[in-house]
Amino acid sequence: MNLSHLKCSLCGAQYDTKQIRYVCPKHGDSGLLDVIYDYEKINSATSAAEISKSKDLSIWRYWEMLPIANHEAVPPLRVGWTPLYEATRLEKELGLRSLWLKDDGMNPTASFKDRASAVVVAKAKELGVDCITTASSGNAGAALAGLSASAGIPAVVFVPRTAPEAKVAQLLIYGSRVFLVNGTYDQAFELCLAATKEFGWYSRNTGYNPFTSEGKKTASLEICEQLASLKSSKPGEWTVPDRIFVAVGDGNIITGIWKGLRDLLTLGWIEKMPKLMGVQAAGAAACYNAWKSGSESITPVDPHTISDSICVGLPRDGTRAVRAVRETGGAYITVEDEEVLKAMRTLARGAAIFAEPAGATGYAGLIKAVREGLVDRDEELVVVVTGNGLKDIGSAVEAAGKATLIEPNLDALREHVSEK
Ligand SMILES: [Zn+2]
Repeated sequence: MNLSHLKCSLCGAQYDTKQIRYVCPKHGDSGLLDVIYDYEKINSATSAAEISKSKDLSIWRYWEMLPIANHEAVPPLRVGWTPLYEATRLEKELGLRSLWLKDDGMNPTASFKDRASAVVVAKAKELGVDCITTASSGNAGAALAGLSASAGIPAVVFVPRTAPEAKVAQLLIYGSRVFLVNGTYDQAFELCLAATKEFGWYSRNTGYNPFTSEGKKTASLEICEQLASLKSSKPGEWTVPDRIFVAVGDGNIITGIWKGLRDLLTLGWIEKMPKLMGVQAAGAAACYNAWKSGSESITPVDPHTISDSICVGLPRDGTRAVRAVRETGGAYITVEDEEVLKAMRTLARGAAIFAEPAGATGYAGLIKAVREGLVDRDEELVVVVTGNGLKDIGSAVEAAGKATLIEPNLDALREHVSEK
């Protein structure tokens, strides 16, 4: 294993990785830790060219860059190596040269969050813990439920009672113990942290567990590797897009994507840092607000948006999420629910990707960025689609409308067809 140490993102204090540690004790629960590797050791163990030859079509192809020592700890469920599609029709529609969609709804529990849960469950297995817990707006919980079932470790999940029914069903079918919290995601998070302390369960809470962003970073490793192979670059030369658009709720996905890119830069496997574009729902825009005001400290908001996965009032990984955008020269964008519903239709009709609202939020942000002239039409753009549309059927129906009810005869059909 090439893991070196944990480093506080606020004060820089360093901690070893021998015992379970979540945050830097100097800042309450907000001193999130960055996972630092011995990069020389990684470079002597492998290379971009070597990894490109791997037949492991999962996040574990990046083994040397992940914090797990024991191969047997890896849960069998296959996570990652999701498709990266060039959206040629949408390129034309928007007048763009190069637009790629990373469809993370193709993960086993149908969201990006499987990446984090796979790494945290492997770590839990390595540590020999007997129960894992998380708070979730739905997807992180489903990912933990699925990966825990895969590894045979019990899980306890806290979700707000407003979580979409399909997501709650997903939690239950995998056999997790599920608590519907009569409150917000933020309150579910607090309750889960208290449960971690009270019962000694291993916490997968997003950001709070330093290894969640390590799982999530694999998305940017994949983007750079896949983009190179799809553009038939030389083996071993990975390609960086100009910008990556991603929806931001608690901030951990954009932080993870940034971390993966920083690791690649440190290793010398890529030559530049893409600009990261954080897209938030206008009704839950705490990171946008901090970025706009030039601050790094997050002021909680009272969140409301159709995009339940990013309906977060207090982004737990907000500080790093603001830095990810600021330090890469990107921007934050907010989108209204109407724009998200429209983006769901466009993604499905123009690229055949069926996204849940949060999954389409990154694309809604791209449309707005193009409209406002924030991107150069010649740039190479990647949008991360973070979750599948079947997760939230209510919103899909709202976006798509209802089918036509018809009597079972041709006359009735003729009438409808001629109406069209
Ligand atoms: Zn600290």
